[in-house]
Amino acid sequence: MAFLADILSRVQPSATIAVSQKARELKAQGRDVISLGAGEPDFDTPDNIKKAAKDAIDRGETKYTPVAGIIELREAIAAKFERENGLTYSSNQIIVGTGGKQILFNAFMATLNPGDEVIIPRPYWVSYPDMVLLCQGEPRFVETTLDTEFKLTAEALEAAITPKTKWFIFNSPSNPSGAAYSRDELKALTDVLLRHPHVWILTDDMYEHLVYGDFEFCTPAQVEPELYDRTLTMNGLSKAYAMTGWRLGYAGGPLELINAMNLVQGQQTSGTSSITQWAAVEALNGPQDFIAIRRKAFEERRDLVVSMLNQASGIECPKPDGAFYVFPSCEQLIGKSTSSGKVIETDEDFVTALLEEEGVAVVHGSAFGLGPNFRISYAESIEQLTESCQRIQRFCATLK
Ligand code: PLP
Repeated sequence: MAFLADILSRVQPSATIAVSQKARELKAQGRDVISLGAGEPDFDTPDNIKKAAKDAIDRGETKYTPVAGIIELREAIAAKFERENGLTYSSNQIIVGTGGKQILFNAFMATLNPGDEVIIPRPYWVSYPDMVLLCQGEPRFVETTLDTEFKLTAEALEAAITPKTKWFIFNSPSNPSGAAYSRDELKALTDVLLRHPHVWILTDDMYEHLVYGDFEFCTPAQVEPELYDRTLTMNGLSKAYAMTGWRLGYAGGPLELINAMNLVQGQQTSGTSSITQWAAVEALNGPQDFIAIRRKAFEERRDLVVSMLNQASGIECPKPDGAFYVFPSCEQLIGKSTSSGKVIETDEDFVTALLEEEGVAVVHGSAFGLGPNFRISYAESIEQLTESCQRIQRFCATLK
C-alpha cells in the first residue's frame, strides 16, 4: 500500500508469533494441541514481586518517572551488575526500558546510520535482524554449525568484520539454540574484538540465570575489561523472574551511549510503567532463592527432552548449557514423506506436518536463520513435554 513507509518492506512479522497463532486456531477447532513455540516461562511471577507492585499502587507511585527509570531501580541494577557480573556502572550509566526489546531498539536507533553493519550469528533471536533493518542498518550474518553446538568461532567472527561493522551482537545463553559460551570460548571472541576498536559489543544477557550443571555464566566486559568502554550490557526480568508481561529490560554502558538512548526513549515511551519499576526493585533486591529452584526444574526438563528427541529416528539434538530451548536438526528427514503423502522438503514443512498430524507446535529453524532445524521451548510441564516428545517420536517413525 502506497500509504505505508517503504522501510516496512524490509521487515517481516515474527515467525514465533505466527506459530502460536496457528496453534491457537487449531485448538479453537477442538484439536488437541501442545504448543512448545512460545519463549516464556510457565512459572508465575514470585509473590513478593507482585506484592511490591500492589504496594506501589497503594502508595500512589502512579505518575511519570524519569525517562531512564527511577533512581531506586537504577541503583538496584548497578548493585546487581557489581554483585553478579563484577561490572561497575554508576546509576547514570544505566537505562531501564519497556522490555529488553526496547533497549535493543534504542541502541540501534541511537547509533545506526544507513549502511552500518551489525554482525549477527545464526541462528539468531528473530527480532535482531528486523530491528537492525528498521533502524536502516545492514545485518551481516555469520554461520555457526551443529559441530560447534551453534557457537561462533573466533575465525568466523574475524572474517565477518569490515570497516563498516558497528555492532557485534552476542547472546549467551542463546535463543534459539540454548548455546552458552564458557569463559575460554568467550575470551577467544573478545581477543578478536580487541583487534578491531571500531566494533562495539551488544551483549544480550537475558538468559543469564538459566544455566545448568556446573556451567558458569560470563559476559564480555567481565571477561575482557578493556572492552568495557564499547560494550552495552543488556539484561531484563522477563525470563529468570517470570515477568514477560510486566515489560522491563535494562542495560549498562558508556555514558554517551546511554544518554543517546535516553534521548530516543524520551521521545517514544518515556519511563516504563512506574508500577513495574517498583516491582523490579523488589525482584533485584529481594530474595533470589526461587531462581535456583526453577533452574533445577528447567534442567530436568532439558535432560528429558534431549534424551527423548535423540531417540526419535532422524533427529539429532545437542544438549545445550542454558536458556529453555533446544534446537535439534531434522536434516536426515528432509526428502521423506508423511503417511498422508506430503513430502518434507524443508524444516518449515517438517513443523507444519508435525502440527497437523500430531498436534505439536514448534518453530522451524529457518525462522531463526538456520535450518533444517526446529526450536522447542521446554518451559512446559514434564507431563506435557513427555507427551509431545512421544508424539514427535511417533511422527518421525512414520516418515518414509
Ligand atoms: N533477547 C532475547 C534473546 C529474547 O529471547 C527475548 C525474548 O524472547 C528478548 C531479548 C526480549 O525480552 P523482553 O522484551 O521480554 O525483555
